[in-house]
Amino acid sequence: MKRLLTLCLLAALLCFCGGCTGAPLSRTAMLLDTTCTVTLYDSTDEALLTSCMTAIAADEQCWSRTDPNSDVSAVNSGGAVTVSEDTAALLATSLEWSTRTDGAFDITTAALTALWQTAEEQNRLPDNATLQKALDTVGAGKVTVDGNTVTCEDGTQLDLGAVAKGAIADRAAALLKDGGCRSALIDLGGNIVAVGSKPDGTPFHIGIADPQNPDALVTTVAVTDMAVVTSGSYERGYKIADAWYSHILDPRTGHPVSNDLLSVTILSPSSTEADVLSTACFVLGYNAAAALIDSLPDTDAVFVLADGRVVTTDGVQTVF
Ligand code: AMP
Ligand code: MG
Repeated sequence: MKRLLTLCLLAALLCFCGGCTGAPLSRTAMLLDTTCTVTLYDSTDEALLTSCMTAIAADEQCWSRTDPNSDVSAVNSGGAVTVSEDTAALLATSLEWSTRTDGAFDITTAALTALWQTAEEQNRLPDNATLQKALDTVGAGKVTVDGNTVTCEDGTQLDLGAVAKGAIADRAAALLKDGGCRSALIDLGGNIVAVGSKPDGTPFHIGIADPQNPDALVTTVAVTDMAVVTSGSYERGYKIADAWYSHILDPRTGHPVSNDLLSVTILSPSSTEADVLSTACFVLGYNAAAALIDSLPDTDAVFVLADGRVVTTDGVQTVF
């Protein structure tokens, strides 16, 4: 009897891990410095799932700031650097979004991130002169993309941490669709893309974490063919002299963001844009962020405000 139970458990585990022939088929890997899970609901195509995970890992190698062989590291080492067409396109898009968000989103914040990491290690806030020196390297205007050639001003360093997961999820979704999949969830450490709908045609339900209690949800949204991306300071940040500072920095002041928002979740058909906008809106604060989202077609948001209110834009379909 005990053996039968063990076999049943093993069979259930194999099904859960995608080892049996029935959908859903799911795989999890530590990639992009986080837990990434891709689940196919209408397909048992193991090869498609494998190529999706492989593509995510390959994109990470290209856009990681810490991988010495990445395009980003090549650009950060200085001079005019030839990058892949995909990297050039992502950099050009990112630089455009700096202008469109009045500098709230900026891929040149690497020196600032390094500064605040050092401040945490030394448990001491940075002095004004050091902060200013790092801030002097920040600004989209300090990067030139000419075809596939990228040049940064001296000292300016790229960090795609606020857009890479979004872009990679878009590419993973396109790969799954090209492979015939019409129902899947891509979860790159909370950057979610719903590919199509559930197999029965109803929307996927995605929970949005409560920034003050990440084990609980503030709401659940119903989405079809949509990215759902959240930025907030509840999971990552710097602890310095017993105070908590956001890992999202205001590129205009060099300081960690501290405003009337606890988190911003963006719903958009483009995961790249959702990633850019969640970071940008978090920097902008509620009023400017709400105005920006209002100006963009097919884009919605869930704002969790510091006073505890949860504000959703008109297009958000919540599930009760
Ligand atoms: P996200 O979690 O998508 O909001 O991205 C946050 C990450 O992007 C940080 O850990 C930094 O690496 C980088 N970053 C911080 N502030 C900004 C900013 N204002 N614009 C663009 N990237 C940023
Ligand atoms: Mg982002």
